[in-house]
Amino acid sequence: MDADPTDLYGLTRPELRSLVEGWGLSPIHADTLWSLLYQGLACSADQLAGLPARVRAHLSAQTRIGCLPVVAGTDSGDGFTRKYLLGLADGERIETVLMRFTGRVTACVSSQVGCAMGCVFCATGQMGYRRNLAPAEIVAQVVHVARALGPLCGTRQLRNVVFMGMGEPLHNYDAVMKAVEILRDPNGLCLGAGRITVSTVGVVPGIRRMADEASPVHLAVSLHAATQDERAALVPVARKWPLDELIDACHHYCSKLGRRIFFEWTLIEGKNDSADHAHAVGALVLGLPAQVNLIPLNPTPGYEGSPSRSDAARRFQRILAEDYGLPSTMRQRRGIDIAAGCGQLAASP
Ligand code: SAH
Ligand code: SF4
Repeated sequence: MDADPTDLYGLTRPELRSLVEGWGLSPIHADTLWSLLYQGLACSADQLAGLPARVRAHLSAQTRIGCLPVVAGTDSGDGFTRKYLLGLADGERIETVLMRFTGRVTACVSSQVGCAMGCVFCATGQMGYRRNLAPAEIVAQVVHVARALGPLCGTRQLRNVVFMGMGEPLHNYDAVMKAVEILRDPNGLCLGAGRITVSTVGVVPGIRRMADEASPVHLAVSLHAATQDERAALVPVARKWPLDELIDACHHYCSKLGRRIFFEWTLIEGKNDSADHAHAVGALVLGLPAQVNLIPLNPTPGYEGSPSRSDAARRFQRILAEDYGLPSTMRQRRGIDIAAGCGQLAASP
C-alpha cells in the first residue's frame, strides 16, 4: 500500500532539507521550495515550476503542499471580520478567522477539531472533541489567511496569530509548538514570537512546560472566575486542574520567563460581573505581571446567559484599575453576526 503523502506545511526548514537530501538532491532546492511556499504562497504544483523537473517529480510522487480547500467564506456586516470554513483531508472541517481592525491584521486559528474541555458557554466545547490538528493543518490556516490578504492589502500585512479558534492548544502541545516554529522561520512567514498568542483554558502541565522550555510566544489564560467552585461550574476541566494549581503555574511562568501573562474573562451578566467578582480577581492575580482581556459573552446555541451590561463591564474594569493597578482591555464585539466571535466557532457554514 502507498504511504500517505507528506504534507509540506508540516515540515520545519531543516526537515525539508533532510527530505530533499534523502532524495540525493542538493538542499538548495529545499530552500527554494521553502521560499515558494511561504513567500510566494504557492498552493499548486504549477506554482512550483521554478524547481528542476527531478525535484518536482519527487515532490509530486511523495508529498502534497497541504492547502486546505475553502468550503465557505463569510464576511461580517461591519467589514472587519472574515470567517473561513476549511476542509480537511479526512472530511472534518475547521474554522479560521481573519480579523482586520485598529490597524492590525490577525489570523485566529484552530488547534483541534472540536474541544474536549467542555466550557459551558463555548460552541466549540458544545460540539465535543473530534481530533487534534496536525502541524501542517495549523500552518495551512495561517498561509490561507496570508494568501487571502494578498488582494486586500498585501500578504506581508499578516503580523499576528492567535490560537483562539477551535480547540485547546495546550491539549495539542507538540503540534502547536511545531507549527509556531514553522511560522516563525525568518526565511518563511517570519512571524514574530511576540505577535503570536496561545490561549489556554488552564492546562497546568502545558503552562509549566511553556515556562520550562522558555516558549517565546505570549500566553493567555482563560480565567472567567476567581473561586474554584464558580470556575468549575463554567469550565469543567477546572476540577482536574484546580484554581490554586493554575495560579501557581502562572507564577512559575512569569517568574521563570520574566514575562507578562494575559488573563481572559468572559463577562456574563449576573454570573461573574459584580463588584465582588472584580475584587476577587484583582486579589487572586495580585503580584503577577498581568493584563486582563474582558470579553462580553457571545451567544452560542447551547448556553442561555447574556453578556454583561456596559455599566457593569465598566465598573469591573474600573475596580481592576483603581484598586489593583491591573490593566484591562474590553474585546470589541466583532464578527458576531457571522458567528466568528470568541467561542462561536463550531465548523458550520
Ligand atoms: N481553548 C482556548 C482558546 C480558544 S477560546 C481557551 O479556552 O482559552 C478563546 C477565548 O474565547 C477563551 O478565552 C474563551 O474562554 C472565550 N470564549 C469561549 N466562548 C465564549 C463566548 N461564548 N463568548 C465570549 N468568549 C468566549
Ligand atoms: Fe475548548 Fe476554549 Fe471552548 Fe473551553 S473555551 S471549550 S477550552 S475552545
